[in-house]
Amino acid sequence: MFKNKDFKVKSHTDELAFEHSHAFGVQGVNLRTKKTAGFSIGVNQHGLVAVNSNILATPDSPYDLITERIVLEAKTIDETVKICEREVKGRKDYQWCNMVVATPEQLVALELTSSELATAQSNDYLVRTNHHIILKTNEDIIDADPDKNRQNIEHSKIRFNNTNKILKVASDVKDIFSLLKSHHEAAICRHGQSSTQDLSYTTVYSYLITIHIEKSPKIVFNVAKGPPCQHRFVRFNIEFPLITEKCKQIKQYYPF
Ligand SMILES: [Zn+2]
Repeated sequence: MFKNKDFKVKSHTDELAFEHSHAFGVQGVNLRTKKTAGFSIGVNQHGLVAVNSNILATPDSPYDLITERIVLEAKTIDETVKICEREVKGRKDYQWCNMVVATPEQLVALELTSSELATAQSNDYLVRTNHHIILKTNEDIIDADPDKNRQNIEHSKIRFNNTNKILKVASDVKDIFSLLKSHHEAAICRHGQSSTQDLSYTTVYSYLITIHIEKSPKIVFNVAKGPPCQHRFVRFNIEFPLITEKCKQIKQYYPF
């Protein structure tokens, strides 16, 4: 599982969640209030990994809270989908997002608005960027945006297509690191070099989590602070239960 976290600021410092013995997560940032909430990316003792990306930061609850619930409560993709269905049926009204959730056996993409949910499962790979693929909401995005300044989704579409093309022929984890650093048309690695809205984003963190199943899931967390073409990935193992000593080690190595 991988993610580049792109913000409109040049630098950002992650906050980590250490309060759960069976789950580890990087906290999300509510793009409307700038307050931390839930998980932006997280993994649990069953080897389930969840990650999200923003579509529209409405005044509703941040989607990072659902991502956190999935990591804290789900073992399987079925349980993941049920959690999201319950949330949408309960009309708790969340900001619009994409999530990708993987277990060692299965993979699902979840597209969420405040009232709709769509899912897609796959046996090999799935990509999501910053627009909906299944939900027919892209035309409605300006209407739904309380600020009426939603960025053009064309850049997101090009990144989606580029990533799919690269993943189709990717053969190992090195190819995924290259993808995260790539600068082809509509770069995946972003440097905020332009004043135009679509190009003003900088990759403030890059993540890649690998899971090998032995007796229990062996989880390796790779993270780079800043555009990954310029900053090296730090790598550490995540072992559950997350004891105090292990948390100290993660804090020591994590690029804050
Ligand atoms: Zn770069």
